[in-house]
Amino acid sequence: MSKKIDRRAVIGGLATGTAAAAVSAPAYAQGKRRLKMVTTWPKNFPGLGTAPENIAKRVSAMTDGQIEIKIYAAGELVGAFESFDAVSTGTADMYNGAEYYWQGKSTAFNFFTAVPFGMTAQELNAWIDFGGGRRLWEELSAKFNVIAFQSANTGVQMGGWFNKEITSLDGFKGLKIRMPGLGGEVMRRLGAAAVALPGGEIFPSMKSGAIDASEWVGPWNDLAFGFHQVAEYYYCPGFHEPGAGLSTGVNLDVWNSLSKSQQEIIRNACAAENASTTSEYNYKNASALDTLVKKHNVKVRSFSPEIMQALKQTSDKVLAEAAAKDPFTAKVFESFKASLANSMAWGARSEEPYTLARRQV
Ligand code: CA
Repeated sequence: MSKKIDRRAVIGGLATGTAAAAVSAPAYAQGKRRLKMVTTWPKNFPGLGTAPENIAKRVSAMTDGQIEIKIYAAGELVGAFESFDAVSTGTADMYNGAEYYWQGKSTAFNFFTAVPFGMTAQELNAWIDFGGGRRLWEELSAKFNVIAFQSANTGVQMGGWFNKEITSLDGFKGLKIRMPGLGGEVMRRLGAAAVALPGGEIFPSMKSGAIDASEWVGPWNDLAFGFHQVAEYYYCPGFHEPGAGLSTGVNLDVWNSLSKSQQEIIRNACAAENASTTSEYNYKNASALDTLVKKHNVKVRSFSPEIMQALKQTSDKVLAEAAAKDPFTAKVFESFKASLANSMAWGARSEEPYTLARRQV
């Protein structure tokens, strides 16, 4: 009854054209979409798990509820590393994860998350948005019926948690370490046994002694997992992930079924979250590191120049070999290298001398 009165009141007060639009509103409501998004993260995990939740909120708000995205944590619908296949085959509509988790499909995926001695967050954005990265990423993902967007970045990561000091290259020999992507391959070349466990499995594996060391992200995320309870030494920097880009993928059939405005909304929700998480990690890592050191007595160490040099040389070899695996990966690597050289040349005259001077004066 009250509904009828409301509608009459509304229509009565409007011009004919607007009234027609108001009447057709229920048809628009029928086009409401509910999309399933699988993720590679624990539910609401700081930054990683909250980013997809925020994307869902942004999309819902920007579409006035016409697109509702339901988020599934790792293991709820499919396992973390099965997320890509789930979206590729249409079991799920979207994923939120890290592209290097799909490196078994193509080595080229590594470049869209992070590679050892690769790009910082800002440099990755530069490559993908302006240096040709986006076109290559779309070409790669389309082979699997997926389109993906950057939707978070952790910034420079830490080198990882170790249950002993790493004072020389010998320290890596026989070390059982969790490190995914090409960084894991660098570890293997230095004699370590590297594995790629999903985040949720790291703590129990460290606790049981199944692994001796692990990288995860940085102080904010590592404190949340409580790694200080199972390892004493925390090394920097994360040579293997200097700015890990995380992404949101959409099944291409689902994507093509969306209107242009809905596609733009998803694109922009991802871009907004990419910018927001980059700032959030920058801010929260600092206070979390302080807590780890002052409250939990974590011993922070830097890899020695000798170790960094060996890591760099090994990384260069691993990257060159990875790029030689297939012509497409080689093309991605060339584009990545050119954009990185471009960013480094400018960085050497801008951010590097500035931050160095700021710290020294
Ligand atoms: Ca990591």
